Amino acid sequence: MTDNLYKLSGECHCGNINLDINLSKPPSSFQVRVCDCDFCRKHGAGFISDVHGSLLISVKHANQLGHYQQGSSLADFLFCKKCGVFMAVTFQSGGQLYSAVNSKAINENVVFGEIVPVSPKLLSALEKTDRWINNWFGDVSIQILDT
Ligand SMILES: [Zn+2]
Repeated sequence: MTDNLYKLSGECHCGNINLDINLSKPPSSFQVRVCDCDFCRKHGAGFISDVHGSLLISVKHANQLGHYQQGSSLADFLFCKKCGVFMAVTFQSGGQLYSAVNSKAINENVVFGEIVPVSPKLLSALEKTDRWINNWFGDVSIQILDT
């Protein structure tokens, strides 16, 4: 992996789920994608990802990591069962885990780039997964600290 100089962190409200984010460029060069599906709309979520970056999702209590699938069920939405904060979405393909994080769960008060509406529900399954593989973090690990 190349140098990742821009580190951000994310945390759910109760601290059960933490995100360690390495970006390859300044946060201002990343668009925030606002998805128009009902789940994301109701959470007020916006997505950030860096295909050249990396993401570590750390979970203190595995039994309080919530998974939710909707629509085509291709993506796995991760939220904290204790405090309810929606943290990230993941997708698995060819043994690799991809992810985009909820920009609203990021701790630092950084300014991202422009807000762009997206409508994945208008895409076919193949169009969606192609887009995710080409845009989401591709260097993703999930660490369970207390199983
Ligand atoms: Zn929590």
